Amino acid sequence: VTASPPRRLPAPPDADAALERIRSHGGRVTPAKRGVIDLLYGDGTPRTAEEVAAALPGIDRSVVYRCLGQLEELGIAHHVHLGHGRAVYRRAGGTDVPVACQGCGATSQLDLGDVEAFRSLVLDRTGIELDLVHFPLSGRCEACRAASAEGGDAG
Ligand SMILES: [Zn+2]
Ligand SMILES: [Zn+2]
Repeated sequence: VTASPPRRLPAPPDADAALERIRSHGGRVTPAKRGVIDLLYGDGTPRTAEEVAAALPGIDRSVVYRCLGQLEELGIAHHVHLGHGRAVYRRAGGTDVPVACQGCGATSQLDLGDVEAFRSLVLDRTGIELDLVHFPLSGRCEACRAASAEGGDAG
């Protein structure tokens, strides 16, 4: 257990604000940081660390990985675990709750507002505030349920 309190910096509204966040915390805006921020704040596609690195061919893979960690600490980037532990990175501040199929990996999104009643219930009964933006809801999609019913394979 680490003693460091979780940092809850508000998510920067856009890429310029994200770059300003780095400077205001004494960091340098390197080509790697700029490249990663342009990707995350561009089309909004969630990407694994490998995919981020692949999209920035001029930058060393290890530099990209370190950069993702630094951007997370600054509240600029955020990751969510899909499927079996596969983490994808997005800009921070998203309110969409991923819902993933454990069978085929298909992913849909709900909004945090859609699951507010469920979160309140869990908080009331257990005292735990669910972080559904970090770990998605998971289950089996219609196709995977049909396939396992036919084959008698419970997975
Ligand atoms: Zn995680
Ligand atoms: Zn499925």
